Amino acid sequence: MKGYFDHNATTPLHPAARDAWLQASEKHWHNPSSLYRDAGLTSQQLESARERLGTLIGADAERIVFTSGATESNNALFASLPADAGVVISAIEHPSVREAARGRHAVELPVNEDGVVESDAVEHLILCKRPALVSVMAANNESGALQPWRELAALCRKHDVLFHTDAAQWLGKLNAGDLGDCDFITGSAHKFGGSKGCGFLVLPKEDSRLGFIRGGPQEHGRRAGTENYPAIEAMVTALERITPGLSEIEQTQSTLRDAFIAEMRTRFDSLRVISEYAPRLWNTVLMVMPEHDNLKWLTRLSRRGFSISTGSACSSGKEGSSVVVTALGASAAELKRVVRISSGWETTAEDWQALAEAFVEVFDELNRGGRPQ
Ligand code: PMP
Repeated sequence: MKGYFDHNATTPLHPAARDAWLQASEKHWHNPSSLYRDAGLTSQQLESARERLGTLIGADAERIVFTSGATESNNALFASLPADAGVVISAIEHPSVREAARGRHAVELPVNEDGVVESDAVEHLILCKRPALVSVMAANNESGALQPWRELAALCRKHDVLFHTDAAQWLGKLNAGDLGDCDFITGSAHKFGGSKGCGFLVLPKEDSRLGFIRGGPQEHGRRAGTENYPAIEAMVTALERITPGLSEIEQTQSTLRDAFIAEMRTRFDSLRVISEYAPRLWNTVLMVMPEHDNLKWLTRLSRRGFSISTGSACSSGKEGSSVVVTALGASAAELKRVVRISSGWETTAEDWQALAEAFVEVFDELNRGGRPQ
C-alpha cells in the first residue's frame, strides 16, 4: 500500500476483516430471518456483532441499525424527520448530509478560520431557530479537523434538541468509546478496513420511526432487506482489531504527518495547510499548493505510483470544489490548487519521505513545462 495516500476515500480490507467475512460467508450464509436452526445461528451471530459494535461505540445494541453505508444512514435520518422540522447542519458536512438536508428548513452553521464549528454559534442558532436536530460531523473528511461533538451533544441535551454526528471519518482513527452520547451516529465500514456497502446508523433508544427503506421487518422494522451479515461481521472485526492500538497510532502517525508538512514547507514557501492549528485526524493533510492545478499534481503523482485526492472523492465530478476550502472563503484560484493527502495505519516515514520527494519532482517537471514522465 506504499504510495496510497487516499485513505479518507476508502481503505484496503483489513486482513482480519477478510478472514471474518470468508468465515461468515462459508458458515453463516443463511437468511437470519428464516426459521430453521442454521438461520437462527446466523441471526445469533448477527445480534452478537451488534452487541460487540455497541460496546465499541458506547451505545446499547438495540439502538444500532445496519445499513449499506454512511450515505444511506444520513439519508435515512433526514428522511425520518417530520417535514416541518428545522435542522442545523455545519457548512462542512459531507454531501450525503447536505443533500439530504436540502429543502428541510436547514440552517447552515459557519466554521471558524480553522475549519471548526464553534459551540457558541450552535447555541445561538438553537436559541434563535429552535431546530429539532443539529448535525455536525465528528471529523471532517477533507481537512481532518475534529469537531467538538462531545460538547455539542451535551449542549443539545441541555436544550432538548437531538444531536447527530456523522462519524464516518472518526471511527477506526480515534477512540469511539463515548460516541454513544450522541442521539444519532453514522458509520461506514470501508473507512476503517471493512468492506464497501456496509455501515450503520445509531438511533435514540426509543426511536423506531425509520422507514427509509421499506419492505420486510428486518432490523426491527427500521430497515428492510436481508442483513449482509458477512460484511457486518467484517466491519465489527476490523474495528475491534484497530481500536486497542489507536492511541499509539495517533502518536506515531501524527509525528510522521507533521514531519511531512515540515519537509514540504522547506520545499514550497507559500504552502497553505488547511486547519493546521486545529486538532485533526492523525492521517490527513489538506493543502493549497503554491502553484499549478491540483489535477496536474494528481495525475503526475499517480504516474509515479502515488494516490492522492483533490478534496473529497464524492465531489470528484467537480474537481477542485473542496467543500471545506469553499466554506473558508478561498478564492477560485486557490480552490483549483487544493490537494488532500490521507495516510493509513501502516504508513511509514519512508512512504511520507518518498511522497515529499515526488512532489518536488513533479514541481520541477511542471515548472519546466515538460511532458509528464
Ligand atoms: N460521510 C463522510 C464524512 C464521509 O467521509 C463519507 C465517505 N466519503 C460518507 C459520509 C459516505 O460514506 P459511504 O461511502 O459509506 O456512503
